[in-house]
Amino acid sequence: MTAAPPVTARPGTVFLVGAGPGDPELLTLKAARLLAVADVVLHDDLVPAAVLANAERALVINVGKRCGHKKITQEQINASMIDAAHRGLSVVRLKSGDPLVFGRAGEEMDALRAAGISFEIVPGITAAFAAAAALQSPLTDRRSASSISFSSGHHAPGSSLQPASLTDATRVVYMPGRDLGPVATQLRREGLPTELPCVVVSRAGQPDQQIVRTTLARLARVVPGPAPAILLAGEALRDAKQEGLAEVLRQAQGALEETPEPLSL
Ligand code: SAH
Repeated sequence: MTAAPPVTARPGTVFLVGAGPGDPELLTLKAARLLAVADVVLHDDLVPAAVLANAERALVINVGKRCGHKKITQEQINASMIDAAHRGLSVVRLKSGDPLVFGRAGEEMDALRAAGISFEIVPGITAAFAAAAALQSPLTDRRSASSISFSSGHHAPGSSLQPASLTDATRVVYMPGRDLGPVATQLRREGLPTELPCVVVSRAGQPDQQIVRTTLARLARVVPGPAPAILLAGEALRDAKQEGLAEVLRQAQGALEETPEPLSL
């Protein structure tokens, strides 16, 4: 059996690459190889230096929306990708986690198609999976969770309710925000029980990862650890890992012990 040929960063091609949750060991081999040979790497804010260190010869540009003083628009990011590809350079568009999960990849692919530029997707480990690994908790469990839902807390107020068939789903909320109140209200409006296990994982897969474990009743009062943080809620998380959390739990103690206010629906 012959090994697959190593991936080559073809000139004029854009690779939409998943960087995983931030641990360089969690890059795919394909992502690491592409980073090593690409001419240009355009990356988001959430991609840490340890991952970018793989880009040995590339011009590395932060096109994160929060980078520096100047706000970069999506149109400018699209234009940078297209311009570099038109110059015959190999381009890696590096996104945290998986590029197709809450990463605006749809808009970027539309722009690349319109410009006639060939592109390839290299999947990555999304934050939900890194968080579940950190918690040593399943996301599905035949005893309690038959599905998983990924949603964005960014639009939580007023966002539509989950169909009843998802009541036993493990909920993963990306971008839950610093104030977990709106997401907690949303989950309670969907009829989820106050004792539902909820876990906030901050910087999953990174050396300073933090975990706060609570219940839906207390969720609104939890202060998430440093960004990025992700929220997981569901019965499958009942036995989520707790060791090594003493310090974080102490910090959050005040928040966790308060009695929740009744929720008016
Ligand atoms: N494409 C990414 C998601 C980008 S949206 C992915 O597949 O993971 C950005 C959100 O992802 C953050 O607000 C946070 O909720 C989550 N996130 C990304 N990396 C994370 C990490 N290492 N730990 C916890 N949450 C993370």
